[in-house]
Amino acid sequence: MTQVAVWNADETFLHTVPLKHAITMLHRRVAEIHEAVEGETFGPYARPKVLRLIRYVVRRWEYAKTKAAYSREGVLARDDGRCAYCGLPGADTMDHIQPRSRGGATSWMNAVAAHRHCNQVKGDRTPEEAGMPLLWEPYVPTRGRLHRARLIHP
Ligand SMILES: [Zn+2]
Repeated sequence: MTQVAVWNADETFLHTVPLKHAITMLHRRVAEIHEAVEGETFGPYARPKVLRLIRYVVRRWEYAKTKAAYSREGVLARDDGRCAYCGLPGADTMDHIQPRSRGGATSWMNAVAAHRHCNQVKGDRTPEEAGMPLLWEPYVPTRGRLHRARLIHP
């Protein structure tokens, strides 16, 4: 399947995602088209070649010195209260991406904010098994990032 490049909000390369996932990101307004394939469309969209995230995502090597201690509330703050599965605000639970019952860790990298409903639909499955791809990759936030998130989304 065709891969689409995903750039961070500062236009640095992050990773690639399958075209279908890229369209989901556009639909949820998590990202916008930075570069399209000329003359081709995918549904209502120009066919993306490069997407750019709307919100800046902090990369692993940037937070080594200032990373925040893990907390459940911190996960909700990090994700701005948005559900990583449907992209909408009002997420009120924390989901283990790899289920705890199957060895998934309780850590920043294995946790995302999710609606109670979306969490229940996903159940005891991985995002791939549930057909619910993550709309963004989890990361370890800096203390500053969490502090700002809590000020905006207490
Ligand atoms: Zn949701």
